[in-house]
Amino acid sequence: MKKISILGSTGSIGTQTLDIVYQYPEQFKVMGLTTHSNIELLFAQIKQFHPEIVAVANKEKVENLKNMISTLDNSPIIVAGDQGVIEVACYGDTESIVTGIVGCAGLLPTIEAIKAGKDIALANKETLIAGGPVVLPLIEKYGVKLLPADSEHSAIFQCLQGIDNKDLKRVILTASGGAFRDLPTEKLKFVTVEDALKHPNWSMGKKITIDSATLMNKGLEVIEAHFLFEVDYSNIDIVIHPQSIIHSLIELIDTSVLAQLGWPDMRLPLLYALSWPKRIHTDWKQLDLAKMSNLTFQKPDYDKYPCIKLAYAAGKAGGAMPAVLNAANEQAVKSFLNKEITFLAIPYIIEKTCELFVSNNSSQPTLDDILEADQWARGTALMLVKK
Ligand code: NDP
Ligand code: MG
Repeated sequence: MKKISILGSTGSIGTQTLDIVYQYPEQFKVMGLTTHSNIELLFAQIKQFHPEIVAVANKEKVENLKNMISTLDNSPIIVAGDQGVIEVACYGDTESIVTGIVGCAGLLPTIEAIKAGKDIALANKETLIAGGPVVLPLIEKYGVKLLPADSEHSAIFQCLQGIDNKDLKRVILTASGGAFRDLPTEKLKFVTVEDALKHPNWSMGKKITIDSATLMNKGLEVIEAHFLFEVDYSNIDIVIHPQSIIHSLIELIDTSVLAQLGWPDMRLPLLYALSWPKRIHTDWKQLDLAKMSNLTFQKPDYDKYPCIKLAYAAGKAGGAMPAVLNAANEQAVKSFLNKEITFLAIPYIIEKTCELFVSNNSSQPTLDDILEADQWARGTALMLVKK
């Protein structure tokens, strides 16, 4: 039985991971859970999964949870604030940490989990995008595993099993195309938050759903792929695949192309990130290609979706620029969700923030440099929102 903890257990990734534990209780034991504010759901999860420790990042909510828990016979340790989330990430003999926190808030708990010798099932891509230059050396130093749970990266990772890294030529990330895939570019001016939150294939948290509508999600995934698989940006391509059945592909030096297929269901990549190198038998719905309509592919429209180019540029610039891109995006998406800016202002704010950072970038940033760049970019993006 593998001992796991879930950071962000009340979110989309968190609840889907707990669904795996519910279905395969003989495989996994939940040690720790964390939420930002959703103590009602956390309380339900405590009653169902009996974790040893839980954290509530929002300190104001902790007393309420303590009151709720006082009715239980067996209550977990309760910790609070960002430090509490870190305590859960490092707790006891937990083997694997699922990082389901959204945004750069996941960076410090992930770093501390690595230092405590935990394997990382990485859903929280922002952590690697911002923190890649410091996270990767730590993975090496502490001898832990960084296992991708993002569906595209899981697909690539699955294709790479048994492949010598020197034989990998190119990775091809598939993209659903997001909420506005079929909308003419000129109509993007008028789209609302509600429109952008309607993802055609996946049900996810709000932030990543907006990232999917701008295609920044794919841009972030390009940077994620670069860090995870050590592929040059010139060898990372994107193809629009509206059906989300092929989750990504790799091309080898002899031109052979390998792909991983499955229904759009995050539980499969999450399960593999937790079970690797083993496979666990499931009775989930089988893929039946004969019953499937066409699988189609097209080039992304880079003019319609400027975020893709911004992400490639930030990735190639390296240093703390991906952290700046990520933080500006987080702020812009937050402001869009608050209805303070239009959809098209999102790439504009990110581009301007990155431009303003160019002369401050350093090629080998420390963790402090990255955290500072992150804060600076949030402030700068917010200033641009208010303009
Ligand atoms: P959600 O918004 O659904 O969940 C986020 C979780 O993190 C919640 O438990 C939330 O608590 C908690 N949280 C939010 N902010 C903070 C904070 N500042 N400190 C501590 N905890 C916090 O997000 P998703 O599950 O959709 O996404 C999580 C991550 O996984 C993202 O990085 C996303 O890019 C990635 N991902 C998600 C996929 C998906 O299918 N959802 C697919 C691939 C990657 P609360 O409930 O109180 O808000
Ligand atoms: Mg993905």
